[in-house]
Amino acid sequence: MASIQLNNVRKVYREGTQFVAVDGATFTVADGELMVLVGPSGSGKSTLLRMIAGLESITGGDLHIGERRVNDVAPRDRDIAMVFQSYALYPHMSVRQNLGFALTLQKRPRPEIEQRVRAAAGVLGLDAILDRKPRQLSGGQRQRVALGRAIVRDPAVFLFDEPLSNLDAKLRVQMRAEISALHRRLGATMVYVTHDQVEAMTLGDRIVVLHEGRIQQIGAPLHLYDHPANRFVAGFIGSPAMNFVEGRMQGGAFVAAGDAFRFAVPPAWTQPLRAFDGKPVTMGIRPESLYAPRGRPSDAPLGTGAFTVEGLEPLGNEIFVHARAGEHRVTSRVLPQPLPAPGEPLELAFDLGKLHFFDPETERSLAPGAGSAR
Ligand code: ADP
Repeated sequence: MASIQLNNVRKVYREGTQFVAVDGATFTVADGELMVLVGPSGSGKSTLLRMIAGLESITGGDLHIGERRVNDVAPRDRDIAMVFQSYALYPHMSVRQNLGFALTLQKRPRPEIEQRVRAAAGVLGLDAILDRKPRQLSGGQRQRVALGRAIVRDPAVFLFDEPLSNLDAKLRVQMRAEISALHRRLGATMVYVTHDQVEAMTLGDRIVVLHEGRIQQIGAPLHLYDHPANRFVAGFIGSPAMNFVEGRMQGGAFVAAGDAFRFAVPPAWTQPLRAFDGKPVTMGIRPESLYAPRGRPSDAPLGTGAFTVEGLEPLGNEIFVHARAGEHRVTSRVLPQPLPAPGEPLELAFDLGKLHFFDPETERSLAPGAGSAR
């Protein structure tokens, strides 16, 4: 096992014009940690992973795996195993042969190969299908064989590039749980790339959020959820997404959408918002912190806003309420309850202890201590 250390790692593609795909990535994946790289398409996640794997050259900075600087070390000498979205199994080989292939290439003794293949098959529940060919397997089984091929090699580091994207939703949830269990069982260092924030939240010990080649924030899933460093992270982590309301500060009160929102900011925000008096500021509130009449917490300080219902999405165990005040639209996530029909008024309450504020120009969080992205 090993840690991975990136120090100001950059990638500039030079095909035609120059394009900075990864701009100064600095972070450490601890020995035994599962680190998720998440961001929208094109944010540089795969490029970053492929640089760790050695499949893409590094334009600048230093990459260490364990004690060794590996910038110029060939992929096969980095002691890594990679699992891709496409399983890339050998169609003419059995599951057993697929699992053992890397070891066969290394000319390992046959009993050792047998033993390591059997151990990996045991971990992944593949014992009963070792003699099948890939075409005789389901999608989930194929992905498990691809995982098994990585395990058999007993690498210092596992790298995953969107390995579950080809699976249907139900299987994805199941495989996610299996990878999580595998991580606990092997205690291995893993880096996992996904565009899916739910996958990132449920799998990662920590998450690196990327946007346009830059790291936005690094932290434990719930830390990112509760303390987003900027508006991008706030909007990207969480579903339905955080609501943002553009308003301004007036003598210690936040005012927006005519008068739909007008409330004195809670004491914790007085100091951080002082410099914004008379100026625009962006308020953020998560859908679950906006309450319809039923389900309002009795022990939290509440503010209220006057809205018009635009649409209701009843999901059985909860309802998404889409509401509007002036040009401001918000989504609220509430308990099942009778609600006004679209076009009718609805008062939504919000938890004053769960507000976020952002500088509209820099988009940084104004929360005390949120200055750094780490
Ligand atoms: P992600 O994995 O987050 O979707 P990528 O790392 O694949 O993002 O790509 C990051 C950016 O780099 C994208 O804008 C992409 O178009 C660009 N890019 C990726 N590979 C190349 C390449 N070989 N040449 C030029 N640009 C590339």
